[in-house]
Amino acid sequence: MSTYETEVLLVGAGPAGLTLAGDLARAGRRVTVLERWPSINPSSRAFATMARTLEVLDARGLAEDLLAHSATTQAVNLFAGAKLDLTHLHSRYRFGMVTPQTNVDQALERYATAQGADVRRGIEVVGVTQDGDGVEVTSRTKDDDDSSHRTIWRATYLVAADGAHSTVRSLLNVGFPGKTVLSSVVLADVLLTDGPRDGGLTLGSTREEFGFLAPYGRDERGGAWYRSMTWDRRHQLPDTEPVSESEIVSVLERAMGHELGVLEVGWHSRFHSEERQVRQYRRGRVFFVGDAAHVHSPMGGQGMNTGIQDAANLAWKIDAVLGGANAEILESYHAERHPIGRRVLRQSGLMMRSVVLHPRPARWLRDRIAPRALARPWIRDAIAGSFTGTALRYARARGEHPLVGTRATEVPLVEGRLTELQRRPGFLLVRERDRAPLIIGALAQARRTDDGPALLVRPDGYIAWAGPSDDDGWRAALARWTGTKAHQPTAT
Ligand SMILES: Cc1cc2nc3c(=O)[nH]c(=O)nc-3n(C[C@H](O)[C@H](O)[C@H](O)COP(=O)(O)OP(=O)(O)OC[C@H]3O[C@@H](n4cnc5c(N)ncnc54)[C@H](O)[C@@H]3O)c2cc1C
Repeated sequence: MSTYETEVLLVGAGPAGLTLAGDLARAGRRVTVLERWPSINPSSRAFATMARTLEVLDARGLAEDLLAHSATTQAVNLFAGAKLDLTHLHSRYRFGMVTPQTNVDQALERYATAQGADVRRGIEVVGVTQDGDGVEVTSRTKDDDDSSHRTIWRATYLVAADGAHSTVRSLLNVGFPGKTVLSSVVLADVLLTDGPRDGGLTLGSTREEFGFLAPYGRDERGGAWYRSMTWDRRHQLPDTEPVSESEIVSVLERAMGHELGVLEVGWHSRFHSEERQVRQYRRGRVFFVGDAAHVHSPMGGQGMNTGIQDAANLAWKIDAVLGGANAEILESYHAERHPIGRRVLRQSGLMMRSVVLHPRPARWLRDRIAPRALARPWIRDAIAGSFTGTALRYARARGEHPLVGTRATEVPLVEGRLTELQRRPGFLLVRERDRAPLIIGALAQARRTDDGPALLVRPDGYIAWAGPSDDDGWRAALARWTGTKAHQPTAT
């Protein structure tokens, strides 16, 4: 039996695992990803990448290229003319990117391997143990049942990024409480000549069914490809039952209320949707990220987005602790990300339930209230900010500046976009507009062009401290998060 050692071991090369692997490798850590499938999952599930995730991708140099090959949407068209307008988002990305998940997965895998992560495919994890010093994982080559061919991997930390049916979760007996919320949902790629007129993400529903269309792009035959999602209350079948093309087309056209000019139905699949979340995102030296930690209805396009942001939150903390920071900071991963996961479950569940509402009076009320509510700027911006992740903030301690826990992405800087500066990992000190550089060793610095306070920005783009730069507070915050002390600030 061969044994390998590394610093961080990851199970699962989906978007969450690949983001984490790339970030850790970029920070100089030895990281190995074990993935069961020999190539990237071709069943492209996610179609919408939201503004906050685009910012995260930009901080890894991936957003521009992905956007150059993707469609975008400026709104989500809901029921009865209600529309979630994304054009007022407080972000450089005032839209959603619509592209098959495989494209995002491929970009993240290129990022992870370019940074030096060791991504091993065709390897399935079958055993996990941990002790005070580290974790030990047993793997086999996929489908090789000969136990003498097993490989042992040792690492300081293990991250379970192995999806909704997480093997690591089962091996460690970690519960995944929740329930099935919608069954017999059909996903398909459809080529239409008469798709939704304004081209964005579009939802249509009757009392008995719903249809959803996400535009992927034009086709030389004169139509456009869409990812469709359909559901029919009267046609509930197990996931294993085949899907017929007529089932897709008839539900879609009834839900949208008009003929769609279907030229072709491509890949399709039936699935069911669950709402579940692990109670603790950490079990000793093992962390749960992405779908291994939370699953929910695909309404609102949240799963991949949330998983990528889980990874961005955890990676720099593991790096800091491996670099000498107090291991207690790892607790902040659960403290910060679990409430976000719970909110995503609630939000996507609420959206799903409002789409499949059955009683006529409730639908009537929904159709009256939703368009009016979403036309009010403060409601529109609160909901759009929450769905796209731009309004997300982490809790701050009592007495901390109100900006602590918010993202710094939109702060105007002399040096350019924050997300460009963050392609170099580590904390960043943003000085006030009139403040000369400080002599503080290796800590990166930038200068803001507006009148705001100095900021200490975490590697994931959130503000760790705010105040005047000649205050000692930022040095205390830096020491708390990283264990490193910066020199006394001196103006040059
Ligand atoms: C219909 C549908 C539509 C969706 N639309 C959206 C959307 O628009 N936007 C959005 O954000 N999200 C969407 N999602 C959710 C999104 O697809 C998932 O949240 C996302 O793929 C989760 O990423 P992950 O990295 O956590 O896990 P996964 O992508 O599931 O990756 C886990 C990996 O772990 C591997 N693995 C598992 N067990 C082992 C083992 N024992 N050994 C080795 N490897 C293992 C698997 O092979 C897999 O590659 C949608 C989902 C569905 C079903």
